[in-house]
Amino acid sequence: MDRIEILMALNENNREKSKVDPKKQLGPIYREIRDLKSAILAAEKQLSHMAREYQERKEELDQLLLDVPQWTNDIAKAKERMIRQRGLTLKDMLEIQQEVAKAEENQLLGEAKTIDLQNKLAAYAKEKKITQARIKELKTQFNQRAAIYNQEKAKADLQMASFAAKEEALLEELDPETVALYRDALQSNPDNPVVLLEKDICGGCRIGLSKHMVKLVNQGDKLICCENCMRILLPAHKGVKE
Ligand SMILES: [Zn+2]
Repeated sequence: MDRIEILMALNENNREKSKVDPKKQLGPIYREIRDLKSAILAAEKQLSHMAREYQERKEELDQLLLDVPQWTNDIAKAKERMIRQRGLTLKDMLEIQQEVAKAEENQLLGEAKTIDLQNKLAAYAKEKKITQARIKELKTQFNQRAAIYNQEKAKADLQMASFAAKEEALLEELDPETVALYRDALQSNPDNPVVLLEKDICGGCRIGLSKHMVKLVNQGDKLICCENCMRILLPAHKGVKE
């Protein structure tokens, strides 16, 4: 292969390499994995928030379950006092009645609250099960996607390594000056560092070239780079595939 053929082979290698860009290929699945991960974290946060709420309501309920029988007991005692103690003044009687009324009110409120808390705890328990099932499902999806990602990544890495090996082999056949020109062109134009001259226009950035430059490119004695985009310009008749 002559220098131009090698450059064209390098360009072709780059074109193929740019088609299997792992970042582009793996981007969608990577984003999917990232979204699944944040959904799992959000659900776990929700679960621990629920666990705290559950614990607080449970303590409240336990306290009520101790208090309500106590209030019932107070009512019974007060009523007994009214019956047994003779010679109570009207004032004493009224006081005891008020005490009983208040205790009865507390008892009713306590019973209602007990039911409310029991319902809340049941709802939390149900929600917890649903959330746990959702986390499990999300984790399954995450693991499946991660396995696919790893497979695709390994495949892409292998492909990239083969392109790199081919590039290295081709570069070894070139003189250092051409390699330097090629590397400069590659840095700013990773997909197509080598382009054809199109009449008097750069086939890469499409800027118009001077007659002198066009002549130099067509003579082919020396490699000429576009001053605008740094791509290596080859004469049109060399037939680089576009
Ligand atoms: Zn150019």
